[in-house]
Amino acid sequence: MGAARNRYNRRVRVGVVLVVFSLLTSSALATAQQDGPVYVVEAGDTLFSISQIFGTPVEQLAEANNIEDPSAIFPGQTLVIPGYPGLAGTLQFDPVRYGETLGSLALRYGLGEDQLGQLNRVLNPQRLYSGQPLVYLEGAGGMPTSERISTLRGQSMLELSAELGIDSWRLINGNGIEGRRWLVTGELMYAPGDRDVTIALPPEFGSVTVSPESATQGGTLTIQFEGPNQITGRLGDRPLQVIVAGEASALALQGIHALAEPGLVELELMVDDGTRYSQPLLLRAAGYGQEFLQVPPETLDPANTQPEDELIARVVNMVTPEKLWEGKFVYPSTYFETFPSFFGTRRSYNGSGFIYYHTGLDLFGSSSTPVLASARGRVAFSNLLTVRGNATYIDHGWGIYTGYLHQSQSLVEPGEIVTAGQTIGYVGGTGRVTGAHLHWEVWVGGVPVDPLNWIQAEFP
Ligand SMILES: [Zn+2]
Repeated sequence: MGAARNRYNRRVRVGVVLVVFSLLTSSALATAQQDGPVYVVEAGDTLFSISQIFGTPVEQLAEANNIEDPSAIFPGQTLVIPGYPGLAGTLQFDPVRYGETLGSLALRYGLGEDQLGQLNRVLNPQRLYSGQPLVYLEGAGGMPTSERISTLRGQSMLELSAELGIDSWRLINGNGIEGRRWLVTGELMYAPGDRDVTIALPPEFGSVTVSPESATQGGTLTIQFEGPNQITGRLGDRPLQVIVAGEASALALQGIHALAEPGLVELELMVDDGTRYSQPLLLRAAGYGQEFLQVPPETLDPANTQPEDELIARVVNMVTPEKLWEGKFVYPSTYFETFPSFFGTRRSYNGSGFIYYHTGLDLFGSSSTPVLASARGRVAFSNLLTVRGNATYIDHGWGIYTGYLHQSQSLVEPGEIVTAGQTIGYVGGTGRVTGAHLHWEVWVGGVPVDPLNWIQAEFP
């Protein structure tokens, strides 16, 4: 993966050189700013990222705005976006949410489906994906947050708007039903609301929220379900571990593999009556680095690694239905200012290709450094292994596990309940190591993820 990323960087660099060259040749011909919709630059934007969002080549953007140096754009700068004839106003973009269609998005942003399709150069309205940057015109109206409501028998538009406490004009306009006074029983309508729901899903699915809207290698995805039906699903070829979290709510936490192919991954949901819904999700590369390591050859022998990997896979794929932890995870050691190695790094062992990757975060320490439990949980495994050395795995419930590897000593037994920050062992150099350190893992839905995410944010 590291090699692929380098190729990508080179391609981008070649692109930038070409852009600069074409700017030099065209700057003499630059004319006054063209008319057209505008975009206000935000912190973190580059001319390249803006060109990706609006599908306008960097050269055209630069030319339309008399920009000689593409790196010299600044937050708050207003850029004319060429390629939208007949359109005026300020363009914005938001990620498409799971369960949305061009129709529901048109309603949300107060634009016609045709206009929204044109703005986004959508060629196939059936293949909008979650996390796709959706371009819209600011201030066009619409219902930024909407709820799906089902009408009652014999209910009139006036009665419905009175019941919801909203303007009937807004309800009529928002639903595109001008000239009608009566509603069909059970008709699905959209009403402005406080809840931010995906309004285009078939009603059998209730509301589904996927956060974030796009997946990233090594990241954790939270999928929340609200509604009366039991939902199952799969992300790519991995079945979701759906947890019942309340009377009408359920959720699944799913880790994204560090080596998952960037692009689109299908999220398919099923209700027990056989109804299915499927939509792709954007999967982004995380941009991991590379490292070369020398280790004892027996720790690379599949005869040793495979049975051990299978043993740990069995441990971390057991789903405990109760949530045992609270809040953010804590560092498993008191030393966390710097780290010997980060999660996801592509690895070459003893001169191999970069076919391995780092499944955890490494922390410095010696045999006098205590290893601390990152969160409350139940010890699921604690034993000496060839590659992992003295390894302890803690089950936090809901398919979440943490692993503590290469310890000189473990102080806990399987079945024991431990609390966040409790000393469970000591750092060491047992197993496949180049020196004493603590290797710390977080597993989500059977996949190792970047542990730092669980320190920085609270899941779900
Ligand atoms: Zn490690």
